[in-house]
Amino acid sequence: MKINKSSLMTICLLSSLLACTKDEPQEPEVELFIDEELVLYFDAFREEAALRGIEVDYEALNLEGRIENIRDRDVLGQCRVNSAEPDEVVIDEFYWNGIDDDEREFIVFHELGHCVLNRDHLDTSSASGRCLSIMHSGTGRCRFTYNASTRSGYLDELFSN
Ligand SMILES: [Zn+2]
Repeated sequence: MKINKSSLMTICLLSSLLACTKDEPQEPEVELFIDEELVLYFDAFREEAALRGIEVDYEALNLEGRIENIRDRDVLGQCRVNSAEPDEVVIDEFYWNGIDDDEREFIVFHELGHCVLNRDHLDTSSASGRCLSIMHSGTGRCRFTYNASTRSGYLDELFSN
């Protein structure tokens, strides 16, 4: 088949367009990793924050969440702040597999309190010795019960400090 000049041009143009589309640098896909078992709690944290007028954007915060074996046996969860990489909420796998929904929410919200809200530990207790904050250090200086009846009070405290 005889290809004339103009159809050759068209072919070149087409292929360069295709090549162009193909080679064009894509917007870097910021695919943050949040363990599928943690997503529920990350979402709940964002919703509870929104109810109290605080916007939480994990993408903007560059925050990931994973469940893994934390070697230090005293550590159940961590907020790891990495300057070059995404920050991470890390929950110990062994601990995670042995706790119920309330305790799962507590540990994730506590770590998000560090990572998202920049909160430090707070071991203040009531006269009866009850922890006043979900941000208690877990060293037993106050008594902590997190359940349906204490939840909203603790969340109000968490997001108002
Ligand atoms: Zn902590």
